[in-house]
Amino acid sequence: MPERDKKSVYIAYTGGTIGMRHGRQGYEPAPGFLERQMEKLPVLWSEDMPHYRIHEYDPLLDSSNMSPADWVKLGRDIMSRYHSYDGFIVLHGTDTMAFSASALSFMFRNLGKPIVFTGSQIPLCEVRNDARENLIASLLIAAGHSIPEVCLFVGHQLLRGNRATKVSANRFLAFSSPNYPPLGEAGVDLRIHGDRLLSLPEAPVAFDEVGHAQVADLRIFPGITPETLEGFLRPPLQGAVLHTYGVGNAPDRPDLLEVMRAASDRGVVLLNCTQCLEGSVRMADYVTGNALRDVGVVSGYDLTPEAALTKLYFLLSLGLDPEVVRARIQEDLRGELTHPDDATRSGIISLP
Ligand code: ASP
Repeated sequence: MPERDKKSVYIAYTGGTIGMRHGRQGYEPAPGFLERQMEKLPVLWSEDMPHYRIHEYDPLLDSSNMSPADWVKLGRDIMSRYHSYDGFIVLHGTDTMAFSASALSFMFRNLGKPIVFTGSQIPLCEVRNDARENLIASLLIAAGHSIPEVCLFVGHQLLRGNRATKVSANRFLAFSSPNYPPLGEAGVDLRIHGDRLLSLPEAPVAFDEVGHAQVADLRIFPGITPETLEGFLRPPLQGAVLHTYGVGNAPDRPDLLEVMRAASDRGVVLLNCTQCLEGSVRMADYVTGNALRDVGVVSGYDLTPEAALTKLYFLLSLGLDPEVVRARIQEDLRGELTHPDDATRSGIISLP
């Protein structure tokens, strides 16, 4: 292939196991180390590989240390180079990768190029590792396919970023996308399912930053008291994801419901997501779910926990009125949510 036809990929290296080395207290990121490891991989210089440029972040982070400010730094970085590259890779720790991928999916509107998050469970410097395959496949995907999405490639699967959730601490297949099928697979062929991708945008790309918002996550548990709930929902909290049972049920005790109603009345947005890995919230199904709806809790349908929290952050930080946030959070903004109406339209019929 003539040089000028080569695609070019920008790699934002934020940290994570993929580039770590063994330090005295366990794996740690080290400046310059990953690039030196990559130089030892002749395959990266192959004719079939795209040009790439790595930007190593300072400091390199274990992704457990990432915060919304890091999502913004990453988003701004990609936005500032958007028109200079064909695709983007984010090298990132797997621990909070699904949060960062979800956050970026909301911040970029009308995305027309792939942003592929990848990382690994074993660093590239180890003899046996999953880093090499993840890196090579991500480069080929970012350069070779028209994927207008923030996605995540780990362990042979390309997933929509805001549908992915980390399900294994040890396996190479560390992520799952329980409510949306994979966008692609790397087997003998590198296969992309075009019919599962978002459509190419008609408008130019735009970037809306996540700003400051007070949000939190609460897993409902048997025996939860109104005091615990009240302490949790106390000002200045603006929004909370309530992880409920099954199709969105929680104890319908009046003392708990009263605490939720008071929080909703003060403008706290309460989002109902299921603790189950798979499936959707359907608050109308049970008395216990209906009771939540009556005190102002809104449905997160089949959002992953990561997409739910980052969507709440995103919408609240735009300074929207709580009522507007309640409405928008139930809409599908970037392919992150299946609304029951869409399921019906796609031919899935629920029997009574
Ligand atoms: N602790 C690491 C991180 O998230 C784990 C990994 O990269 O897999 O940065």
